[in-house]
Formats: sequence, structure tokens, C-alpha cells
Amino acid sequence: RLREGRALAQDVWSIFNAANLPSDCINLGQGYMNFAPPKWVTKAAEDALNTVSPNHYSHPKGRPRLRQAIKDQYGAQFNRELDIETEILITSGANEGQYSVFTAFLEAGDEVIMFEPFFDQYLPSVTFNGGKPVYVPLHPPPHSQAKPTSNDWKIDFDELRHAITPRTKMIIVNTPHNPVGKVFTRTELEKIAALAEEFNLLVMSDEVYDCLLYDNKEHVRIATLPGMWDRTVTVGSAGKSFAATGWRVGWLIGPPSIITPTLAASTRIVFCTNSPLQEAVAAGLELVNQHKFFETQVKEYQERRDVLLEAFDRIGLQYTHPEGSYFVLLDISDVVFPDDYPFPKSVQGRGRDFKACWFIAMEVGVSSIPVSEFYCEEHTSIGESYGRFAFCKDVDTLKAAGGRLQGLK
Ligand code: GLN
Repeated sequence: RLREGRALAQDVWSIFNAANLPSDCINLGQGYMNFAPPKWVTKAAEDALNTVSPNHYSHPKGRPRLRQAIKDQYGAQFNRELDIETEILITSGANEGQYSVFTAFLEAGDEVIMFEPFFDQYLPSVTFNGGKPVYVPLHPPPHSQAKPTSNDWKIDFDELRHAITPRTKMIIVNTPHNPVGKVFTRTELEKIAALAEEFNLLVMSDEVYDCLLYDNKEHVRIATLPGMWDRTVTVGSAGKSFAATGWRVGWLIGPPSIITPTLAASTRIVFCTNSPLQEAVAAGLELVNQHKFFETQVKEYQERRDVLLEAFDRIGLQYTHPEGSYFVLLDISDVVFPDDYPFPKSVQGRGRDFKACWFIAMEVGVSSIPVSEFYCEEHTSIGESYGRFAFCKDVDTLKAAGGRLQGLK
């Protein structure tokens, strides 16, 4: 089962890793920031390290202060008084939280529907736990369409209905979406919710980019739609919210019927999440309103996005205008490279996009992530048209990357 799909293949993150690329290559590949978390958050981490209690095990549910801060910050967005004992679980990154949900709920052969392209970790996290991924496409806009937006990537709801079988246990929703940047509309989420209700499915809603929506888009939490609280677990991440992806602090919010079994799994997988950084994230959430942090941050990200999009406009390559997250899909199907280019073994035998992204990184000096990694093997050809460029970088770096990318003209 570990060999199913490409679960044991080398992952894209370790191939397109700074360690394998020229040292002056600008990283727009793996999504992490080249700036620090806010000072008042790192200061709280220092303080925690200098205090005895947070240097030791946390309760497996997570430190009470962080659960309380999550309740205070997010309760209103879920239209409820969250119970910090039974409805919030701190996890070692969003990733471990999702893995623990699968461990808790999947029985051998259970099917999990995911929209394709999907964040690559979902696939092995499902198959390692005995589940079977079932793919439903987000249909890309036609290549001929001028100026497509992430909202032009569409679900065919008949296809979604037909993908459901008696073995379907769960649907994964990801909004804002990695790698498309799509912000699912209320109507789309209502239709997904209606199917989840009709077929009695769980919903895992990965909302780790919930603080990054542009162009006045609205973030709708599927857990807040009528009847959905009891069947939905919502995934959050301090890494995305506070520019701290290496801290590995995430959380799950959901009903006790989902959180309790997931806590049992998580306790046996990691026991608890690192304690000092939970304190720092708690301090961060306690002060976001006072600092107007999320409001300022989203404006900065929109500016970063626009710097990169303007650079793409100057090259004249087509891209999907993202309405959320910090990724842009660039159509790289017209980027030409010599067939006999010295590609490393890890790139040979993968999709054309792996070669194009490798070539761009080596020759232009900007790294990106080939998007076929976000498709199952059978659908590689759809992803091969795109490279994913991350804009979680300071404006100067994005301008420099934009300048180098003119080399693609
Ligand atoms: N979520 C980040 C991205 O998509 C990093 C993923 C990872 O390294 N596993 O770039």
C-alpha cells in the first residue's frame, strides 16, 4: 500500500530544493517566506524558551493558552462558542493533523474524494492509512481563454456526484486552494455540502490560507453551512498565518465526534506538538487584532502578487490570476528546452513540466514547482502545462525574479 500511486516516489520538494539548485537561484518554488515572523511573536517564543513549563510536554490536545487563543480568534468565524477541551486540537503542522484524521477514520478501501490538482501530501496521507484517493477535476479554463482567474477552474457537480460510491468516506476541500489559488464560492461549497449530507460523508476542509484572500473575496467556511458542523473538520496553520512554516504548529477545529478519535491518533503519532512555539503562536493570535496584523499582511501579499503578475504580463505568458493563497500557475507549455539538456535522474522520466521548471531554475535562476506533482499519475498530462510560482517573498526579491524571468521571452 505504501507503493500505491506515487506515494514512495521522490517528492517534488526534495527535488526542487535549494540544496539541489544553484545557490543564487531565487526560490519561488516551495512555499515559504524569505522574511521573519513578526517580532512580537518571535519575542514570545524566546520568552517561552526561558520559562520552565513550555520546555516540556504539552497536553496532547495542545497547550490550553493556544486553544483558548484559537477559540477567541476563530469562534466567531464558526458562529459558535468553541469548547477548548473537545473541539480544538493542536497538531504538528496542518499536515500531521490531516494525517491523524485519516488514521482515525479510514478503514481499508475507504474512498476519499479530492479535487485535482490537489496538495500533494493528501495522496500518500490517504494511501498510507489504507484509503483510496478518488479524483474529481477542477476543470482548467481553455488555453485560448484570455486572462483566466482561479475562479475559472470549475467543478462539474455531476462528476462529483458520480465519483461518490458506497465506499466514499470523506471529501477534501481546500480553500483558498494550493496550487490554483481558487477561493471556493459559497454556492460551490453549498453544493459540496448538499452531497456530503445526502451521502453522509465527512468533510476535511483545509483552510490553511484563510488569511490570504485578495480582490475582496470572501472566505466561506464549509463548517458554517447548515448541518455541516457535525461532519466537518477545519484545518488551520500558524506557519501560513505568521510566516513560520518551519514551526510546524497547526490546528483542527471540529465537533467532538471528529476531534476525540483524531486526538487518540495524534497522541500515538507525535504525542504532542512542540511546546514553546505553541506559546508563541498563542501570543501571536492574542495580539493580531491589536496590531491589525491580518489586515496589513493581506495588503502586503496582494502587492507581492501583483509584482509577480506584472512580470508575467511583460513576458506574455498566460497565467491563472489567483484570488487567494500565495501561488500563481504559469502556463509553461511554450517554454522550450533542448531534449538533451543534462536533467538529473529525479527529473528524467517525470512530466514535461519537471523538465521545464528545472530548465528555468538552472538557466533563468528562478525556481518553481512542476504542477503534475499535484495530479495522479494518469492525469499527469493536465498538470504538465503549468509551473507554480510562490509569491511569499519580499517585493525586492519578486522584482529581481521578475527581471530574470524576462529571459523566457
Ligand atoms: N505547503 C507548501 C507548498 O505547497 C510546502 C509543502 C511542503 O513542503 N510539503 O509549497
